[in-house]
Amino acid sequence: MARTAGRHFLQIPGPTQVPDRILRAIDMPVIDHRGPEFGVLGKNVLDGIKDIFKCAGPVIIYPASGTGAWEAALTNTLSPGDKVLMYESGHFATLWKGIAERMGLVPEFIEGDWRRAAAPEKIGERLAQDNGHEIKAVCVVHNETATGCTARIPEIRKAIDDARHPALFLVDTISSLGSIDYRHDEWGVDVTVGGSQKGLMLPPGLSFNALNDKALQASQHSKLPKAYWGWQEMLSANGNGFFPYTPATNLLYGLSEAIDMLKEEGLDNVFSRHDRHAEATRKTVVHWGLEVLCQEPKEYSSALTAIFLPDGHDADALRGVIKDKFDMSLGTGLGKVAGKVFRIGHLGDFNDLTLLGTLAGVEMGLGIAGVPHAKGGVQVAMDFLSK
Ligand SMILES: *Cc1c(COP(=O)(O)O)cnc(C)c1O
Repeated sequence: MARTAGRHFLQIPGPTQVPDRILRAIDMPVIDHRGPEFGVLGKNVLDGIKDIFKCAGPVIIYPASGTGAWEAALTNTLSPGDKVLMYESGHFATLWKGIAERMGLVPEFIEGDWRRAAAPEKIGERLAQDNGHEIKAVCVVHNETATGCTARIPEIRKAIDDARHPALFLVDTISSLGSIDYRHDEWGVDVTVGGSQKGLMLPPGLSFNALNDKALQASQHSKLPKAYWGWQEMLSANGNGFFPYTPATNLLYGLSEAIDMLKEEGLDNVFSRHDRHAEATRKTVVHWGLEVLCQEPKEYSSALTAIFLPDGHDADALRGVIKDKFDMSLGTGLGKVAGKVFRIGHLGDFNDLTLLGTLAGVEMGLGIAGVPHAKGGVQVAMDFLSK
């Protein structure tokens, strides 16, 4: 393949661009994971990551993709045949449900139309009917990466409490952690699932379970098999900064750097940066005359925007043109919305000019692919960002 000059625009909603600082931090000789230097690194990241989840309890770090941490959250807390309440917010919620089924759990899926996030009132209604407390856990995706809708986690917590239901609350923050406000303890979540390659700006390969006491208690009684994913083995080794098996040492160097970077910028500033870029993106999309997939403004995602193409236009053909001409990758439509939508990732290490370059690439691509649209969308974003 011919060389393309300049940096590739990786504007999918994860993996995201890895900042040079993190790449340099990872570029180190591998050390003995049972030696004294490792203990220091391990303690540093195990401690630092708690501030990102806003969690006082332990955070487990797995050398695995986010899918592994989904499985870990379930296998550590539940028993074969347990009923779990899940919500069809989109493709990722559907994948998590599939995992629960294959593990011998019995998920009940509240139907959704993929244009809204998980609805607190529907979850509350279902729990209120469950007088025998057969439902053992409620599992929700915070930011549905397939649709760009973000669930209101505190309202879902309140719905569980109002129904006086003892179910565990498990939340997937794989595409929101480090991009969208999230508070494990304050919001009363029992297990939070996270991943490295989205808002945390790292390469793929690490994932997380943030816990509280209720989750730890559940793990004492749960009967699903626990081996690689077992929290107890992890927690005993983690006490001194070590792991029960070979950890992803060099990614942990990167994680330490990522935590420093998020703290230097300040998490609140990180979140408002994402809010602002998401708003600029939506204003541009509206100007183009295209439709944002998410139908509810209070659920708009600050991490990504999914956009419908008009009928008769193939979103993947547009993505292909943009990749060929401008060396930019955009997210494909997943599952039910395949071919109909494309997704712009505006999360992670991202600034005003990265956004303008991204939007310019999309606007030029729309022209080349013959998708009807109003020109001047990038100007709208420029006006908004320079205000
Ligand atoms: C990316 C993603 C996953 C899957 O993570 P992998 O690292 O691909 O296993 C799960 N849930 C959400 C919300 C995601 O965005």
